[in-house]
Amino acid sequence: MRKKKKNLKQMEYEHEFMLKKYTSDIAELCPAVNSIDCRFLFKDPDHLVPDFTRERTFLPLEKAWFTIECPNRECVSGGLKLEPEMLDMLRKRETHKEGMILCRGWSDQERINQYPCHYELHYRISVQYKDL
Ligand SMILES: [Zn+2]
Repeated sequence: MRKKKKNLKQMEYEHEFMLKKYTSDIAELCPAVNSIDCRFLFKDPDHLVPDFTRERTFLPLEKAWFTIECPNRECVSGGLKLEPEMLDMLRKRETHKEGMILCRGWSDQERINQYPCHYELHYRISVQYKDL
């Protein structure tokens, strides 16, 4: 008997869910962190959606999971991975960082392997550390 085929989105969701489950807490990774305040500006590469901003604060007891969901609802295998930037900052005890990353996914189901999503995330991160 054949199992019902799951769609790609659902499989990815489950995969990320498991990865996240086994990710350490921020406090475990870097006990000195008090809070991580982020300001995000999202830009649609095709200019169909107006730019918008989001703010997000990460607290020590949250998972050290810094992948931001892509705002493009059609996006496949996407996500804005801030882990390299964030972990680098925590390792070096940096307090401020600004930059830009691109979504790593594909624009939509029909154009997998042809047309990258490339949604832009302009970030401004500031980390507050405890005086240990
Ligand atoms: Zn995307």
